[in-house]
Amino acid sequence: MNELQIENLSKIYANGTKALNNVSLKITNGMFGLLGANGAGKSSLMRTIATLQEPSEGAITFNNLDIINKPDHIRKHLGYLPQQFGVYPKVSAEKMLNHIAVLKGVINDKDRKEQVDALLHQTNLYQHRKKDVHSYSGGMKQRFGIAQALLANPKLVIVDEPTAGLDPEERNRFLNLLSEIGENVIVILSTHIVEDVYGLCSKMAILDKGEIVKEGNPLELVASLENQIWTKTISKTEIEKHVNSYNVISTKLISGKTQLRVLSETKPSEGFESAKPNLEDVYFTSTVK
Ligand code: ADP
Repeated sequence: MNELQIENLSKIYANGTKALNNVSLKITNGMFGLLGANGAGKSSLMRTIATLQEPSEGAITFNNLDIINKPDHIRKHLGYLPQQFGVYPKVSAEKMLNHIAVLKGVINDKDRKEQVDALLHQTNLYQHRKKDVHSYSGGMKQRFGIAQALLANPKLVIVDEPTAGLDPEERNRFLNLLSEIGENVIVILSTHIVEDVYGLCSKMAILDKGEIVKEGNPLELVASLENQIWTKTISKTEIEKHVNSYNVISTKLISGKTQLRVLSETKPSEGFESAKPNLEDVYFTSTVK
């Protein structure tokens, strides 16, 4: 069992921005979802775990080894797909993967060919392996990104906002691919898309303004709101009145009408209906507006 332990991690950038504030997390094998709005600090945390930047305070250990002072403890076990991968060279996917595999220390030719071929198949890129990566579609680039991250059998895989910019079909295909990564590795998926986490992750945390505001199993977190979520459909002119009177956690436009979701232990008033809680409710009840 692999274990990533993050303790009291803070990051203040040179311009004074406090991107992470006393973050502590323990992450073991399986899919871990880190959910947060843009600017919440997800990339700052991912880059710190990937040892690309140092924290201002705090400790990170991987299998009990300090990775801040000794980054080599993690680097050879790390697969990382950054938010802006950016490396889409005018080189074929096959050549590029071979090259990255060598850099990651897979120097045996036969091993390397086996790994590269297997990953090209797994990511559904085998038939496109001779094409330049820079000519790939957005979805294909992301699948190439995960292929390079999985080279050399990493124990820790970090994917930072991988579904941003993908169309629904590409996104589905990418998430299915992630779900196939073995159960014997840690996969950290950072995203601002609630549904990405719900279907895929057995553990999750919500990051808000640099702080962990909720942590647990997505299904259990949703179940904890059972019988406390109420909906009502109103017209636009009634929104303000309702926001002032009730604990409104979200509003959504449906066919031109506004649907409110309210958190309350009892029925707020006539006109409200009980609703099944979802992970978005967990998100909105945890984060500060
Ligand atoms: P997320 O990945 O959740 O969108 P980030 O970690 O990118 O969040 O950013 C968190 C906060 O830190 C934001 O306010 C962002 O503007 C700021 N930030 C990120 N990187 C830097 C940097 N290199 N220098 C200064 N501020 C930064």
